[in-house]
Amino acid sequence: MKLCKRCVNPDTGPTIFFDAEGICPVCRYEEEKRKGAIDWDERRRELDGILQWGRENSKCSYDCIVTVSGGKDSTTQALFARDELGAKPLLVSCVYPPEQLHERGAHNLSNLISLGFDTISISLNSKVWKLLMLRGFLKYGNWARSTEMALYAVRIHAAIAYKIPLICYGENPAWTIGEKHGRLGGDASKLKLGNTISGGPTSLLTTDITAKDTHFYFYPPDEYMEYANLRLVYLGFYIQDWSGYNNGQFSKKHGLEVRSDPPERIGDLWGFSALDEDFRIVNQLLKYLKFGFGHGTDQVVEAINSGMMTREEGLELVRKYDGKCDHHYIERFCHYFGISEATFLEVVESLRNHEIWKRNAADEWMLSVERSDPINLELPCGEKSTPGKGLILGRRLDEAQDHLLAGQGDPQGDDHRVLGEGLPIQEQGDDVVPVQAPFLEGLEVLRTRAKTEVGWSAWPAQWCASSCQAKAIHAMRSRAPTW
Ligand SMILES: [Zn+2]
Repeated sequence: MKLCKRCVNPDTGPTIFFDAEGICPVCRYEEEKRKGAIDWDERRRELDGILQWGRENSKCSYDCIVTVSGGKDSTTQALFARDELGAKPLLVSCVYPPEQLHERGAHNLSNLISLGFDTISISLNSKVWKLLMLRGFLKYGNWARSTEMALYAVRIHAAIAYKIPLICYGENPAWTIGEKHGRLGGDASKLKLGNTISGGPTSLLTTDITAKDTHFYFYPPDEYMEYANLRLVYLGFYIQDWSGYNNGQFSKKHGLEVRSDPPERIGDLWGFSALDEDFRIVNQLLKYLKFGFGHGTDQVVEAINSGMMTREEGLELVRKYDGKCDHHYIERFCHYFGISEATFLEVVESLRNHEIWKRNAADEWMLSVERSDPINLELPCGEKSTPGKGLILGRRLDEAQDHLLAGQGDPQGDDHRVLGEGLPIQEQGDDVVPVQAPFLEGLEVLRTRAKTEVGWSAWPAQWCASSCQAKAIHAMRSRAPTW
């Protein structure tokens, strides 16, 4: 499992895509934002035009539909649509059955309605709902396969029924978590092709639950959608300060009730995600076993890019809290479905991805994340280091010490040879890396060994002056993920 070289996004996400330099799309997008390369005024004009289209094509008094749960993102969207855009939105909600809905979720939806919105809530047969969830869990290790599709589909049904063709979604996940579901701009029309909802619950139906029981679990046929002239947009794409953290803080000021559990119980750093029910916490545990990351990673990616924390601090949080799910939530999950914890654990263990999970010497499961990374670095002296062919430099984090690691070959392959380790390195500031004198001495020892012991020709014959070394090492530090 490799991580993005700037944040902590792993390469195991189902639709994640890194560029040639190993940087994830979230980091690239945030880089564009920081450079001022995005014309927000132009985006706003585009959004105003879309809203105008919505007004002109609506056959009733609402300009658009905003789907809501009452959580941080939907509260932000509803208030933005009404107060910033001057729109008259109809809010549509697919409410969890009473047995699953948390009081916090009921409060938050009530709170949103009390902020002054017309809202349609659709509740589905709780027995069908639960059975589809259980089948999704037992068959795919994903209880949300059916419910997530219903949450997406009800808004489409409502748009067609009330003839309101403009439907607003929240974020484009390509730019917030790096997963591509459909298009990369503000157009959300391809969202239904997303990994987790693609196909919906079709494979979960049997003679006791048929298509007649699951109308709201599926999008209407494409021809209906075309006839209704629907237009789906990611509102978050047009909002400059859109982020999970900002939305949470904004919504709290407008009455949002958040979780009080600490992150070691719920794997959620801020406590304001997926507030309407608690099984999402279990789902993050399942995701952690399948893909090696949970919701904490998404939050840390965002926090690193917004400057709230360094990559090292983020890595520490991910290590400590990602995928955490207190036993209390597992008990509730098993009780809801009427399954034993033994059955639960059997399913959970069957999900574990053995390519990324390995047993350590104490026979405990450990996530296998690359400690050091080969550096394809154009050294300031003009030489090039290429994994597998010559110089490799990596970084190893042992206990509290950072070490420079030098060797030969591809560190991921069988034939690599570690020549030795330099002394601890230190960093100050963003661009300048003062290198301690003992470190230079250590580097010199490695260089000598490289020449005398293996005739390492790729080692730069004229190793640069210390300032160049400093830059090279700094580049290496900023690229190398550690675990
Ligand atoms: Zn990244």
